[in-house]
Amino acid sequence: MAGHEGGRAGAPDVRPEDFGAWGDHFGAEEDGDGLSARRPETPDCPDCGRTAELRPTDTGHWILLQPGRYPVAEVPEGRRWYDAEDGRSVVRGPGATARSADECRIAHRPVCAARAFSPRWWPLRAALWLHNRDVAGLPYE
Ligand SMILES: [Zn+2]
Repeated sequence: MAGHEGGRAGAPDVRPEDFGAWGDHFGAEEDGDGLSARRPETPDCPDCGRTAELRPTDTGHWILLQPGRYPVAEVPEGRRWYDAEDGRSVVRGPGATARSADECRIAHRPVCAARAFSPRWWPLRAALWLHNRDVAGLPYE
């Protein structure tokens, strides 16, 4: 049967479900990166309260990034964010001009301590979530 291959990553289209009010509850869109159409008032995560890194995107939105840089090999393609050449904004996906091809950023939202864990997550995501739970003083299994 003709599968939904999705082999070609193509342009990093921002999905409509990534938008919406800042602080939407996770249930609405389980796996978004938490883009905001408006600049949030603070860089604090509305869900766990942790201060993240608030950055504009090349598409004119805002995103909270998890601190640090991570090997691209450990981050699924659609989850990679790169520092743009202006040093200020971030861009998503292959084809974007990036300062480093080896490291990328990831959004805070997928690894937010306020989320419920899923065993389907990629390993680095699970590790960062565990780290955030630990920092937040929340229990984890
Ligand atoms: Zn959070």
